[in-house]
Amino acid sequence: MENGEKILRLAVQAKGRLNEESLALLREAGITVEESKRKLVARCGGLPVEVLYLRDDDIPQAVAMGVADIGIVGLNEVEEKGYKVEVLHKLGFGACRLSLAVPKGAGYDSAEWFRGKRIATSYPEILGRYFERKGIEAEIHEIAGSVEIAPSVGMADAIFDIVSSGGTLVRNGLTEVEEVMKSEAVLIGKPGLDNGKQAIVRQLLFRFEAVERSRGLKYVLMNLPQDRVNDAVDLLPGLKSPTVLPLAEPGWCSLHAVIREADLWARIEELKSIGAEDILVLTMEKMIP
Ligand code: ATP
Ligand code: MG
Repeated sequence: MENGEKILRLAVQAKGRLNEESLALLREAGITVEESKRKLVARCGGLPVEVLYLRDDDIPQAVAMGVADIGIVGLNEVEEKGYKVEVLHKLGFGACRLSLAVPKGAGYDSAEWFRGKRIATSYPEILGRYFERKGIEAEIHEIAGSVEIAPSVGMADAIFDIVSSGGTLVRNGLTEVEEVMKSEAVLIGKPGLDNGKQAIVRQLLFRFEAVERSRGLKYVLMNLPQDRVNDAVDLLPGLKSPTVLPLAEPGWCSLHAVIREADLWARIEELKSIGAEDILVLTMEKMIP
């Protein structure tokens, strides 16, 4: 730290499902991470931030202890570990759920089925709290990995694990029966950061939000006969758009609008049908209100 300059330390998963998207988010937010993969800590450009690479299980504790000031980790790990950290922002990637699953044909009817059963999981705390709320007593067996094979090898009657598509469950002859929590990657922070660090966190969040706002949006430009502008406005509700600019050619204008990617082709067909020509579709990087 030079001249008392504040550097915010951000913990990111070293490798695994959240690593790439965490680094991509930083990149889109204008934070360049030094390319020395093998190092535990990497200096960044763009903001006074450094990245600390950790296993995801260790991130909540690192933040709670102040080894890192903030971190990007799955909400599931935050809830399981129970350390005192603040969830500052949901990041919209790494979506999954934590669910109970039983072998196909197990005759499952309600959560009562779990009474007295053995359940294998890597999330004993979250599961324990769920059973407590339901007033169900069951045997929770904590195992570190390959939870989904536990029933077929006779280690457990059921499992409680992360599900995203459900493909792993199907391949192991299991059926998802109760969803206990939804998870996604979140930005967590140590409570009570000093003012200097809080200011950097605010800058970071401002940038993350600008990136998020532009997700799934396209910027579309086209030429349109002047007398069809009202039809176009009816087709393109939203923000303060569309923007209409005169063209050198009399009777024509240039129309700019922001369109959701999901609606893009439908809107383009409609715009063509009212006379739009030379349609350009551009990627939006950031949207700052
Ligand atoms: P580490 O080596 O860092 O401990 P890990 O093996 O525990 O990694 P990963 O499998 O990389 O963890 O998953 C990291 C996080 O990604 C999970 O905790 C969860 O929040 C999220 N995630 C999203 N979808 C899935 C999925 N289908 N399976 C597992 N995790 C998922
Ligand atoms: Mg882990």
